[in-house]
Amino acid sequence: MAKRLQVCRNCKRFTTERVCPSCKSTNLSTSWKGVVVITDVESETAKMLNIIEPGRYALYVG
Ligand SMILES: [Zn+2]
Repeated sequence: MAKRLQVCRNCKRFTTERVCPSCKSTNLSTSWKGVVVITDVESETAKMLNIIEPGRYALYVG
């Protein structure tokens, strides 16, 4: 059985676990839009989204 993909409302990181792997928050949402993959945290996109760690993030979390 596939795990449900959720997004952390705190840092917008994707996770299939019950807690966010990045900030350990349990404030997760299944309502999200858009995917952005950050490989370079110095990029404009990463700075705009306040991302400090490479990974997959949602653009919008409901
Ligand atoms: Zn998080």
